Amino acid sequence: MKKRNRKIAAALGIVIIGGIWYNGAQSSKALPSEQASPTSSFTPLPSPSDEPSQSPESPSPSASQAPDKSPKPSASASNPPTAKPTETKPTESTPPTEAVKPPVKESAAFELLADSLPGSTVRKNKQGLAVITNASSLYVLVNKQRNLASDYVPKDLIVPDVPFSFSGDSPKKQMRKAAAKALESLFKAAKDDGIKLKAVSGYRSYATQKSIFDSNVKRKGEKVANRTSARPGQSEHQTGLAMDISSASVGYALEESFGKTKEGQWLAKHAAEHGFIIRYLKGKESVTGYSYEPWHVRFVGKEIAEDIANKKVTLEQYFEDAETAMARKA
Ligand SMILES: [Zn+2]
Repeated sequence: MKKRNRKIAAALGIVIIGGIWYNGAQSSKALPSEQASPTSSFTPLPSPSDEPSQSPESPSPSASQAPDKSPKPSASASNPPTAKPTETKPTESTPPTEAVKPPVKESAAFELLADSLPGSTVRKNKQGLAVITNASSLYVLVNKQRNLASDYVPKDLIVPDVPFSFSGDSPKKQMRKAAAKALESLFKAAKDDGIKLKAVSGYRSYATQKSIFDSNVKRKGEKVANRTSARPGQSEHQTGLAMDISSASVGYALEESFGKTKEGQWLAKHAAEHGFIIRYLKGKESVTGYSYEPWHVRFVGKEIAEDIANKKVTLEQYFEDAETAMARKA
């Protein structure tokens, strides 16, 4: 090889190596921000996720189905197509600005939430408490930042025709009509699959929630009570859209071990098909404000439930993404 050729070859080598290094630096830079973002599951997929085309296998083995304590089991286990978001980068517009917050994946289901977005459904009362203004919406978001009025009682409470863990009449057998009908469908599907579930606790009035919380504070102290039970006005049970479900295999207890039973796993997998979500997911305490509750299902309707199950997000995150998507549209 001549001297000049060698020089060219050396220069080429530097360019190539430099290029490789540059690409590597770029993609490794892109990773942390994407993983840190709660919306990272919205990375574009070849198929539109707004049509709930998922097989019964995929929707909700979400966090709740994890057989062990690993923090993010589902994301990697059952979601291979989204695992390599960096590959799709070049097709997106303006990566430098988008890299900070990946675009929210549009969902047709977001449209249903147009009148229920958290930002526009809350007002401060005289005591400075944030009170929900859409309490009777099927899409109401209740949490530690959003309180139901103390006098809110759903108007269409009925007792679903499902087996309960106790006998006799009780207000806690009730749910709102739409939720009750959906619960009947859920329980029928369970029965057809040879799974025996029992309903444990549904509607709870403000007053009942207050006495539960107060007694928990007495028994466990305020800090623990606040993590494991809701303050009055902050319980989804007051909406009539939630039900606690358990099985004989755990003595109908409402405890984390239910999530590992075949009944708990069936519930996590099939709840969305009937319009329910497992509301308090494992590893999401910092978002929901509550410990993992594999027994607590919340009715949000099939469209939203299936979209949430597909995206493996909490209701809080889902609303946040809906709000972002709607704002972008406006
Ligand atoms: Zn509950």
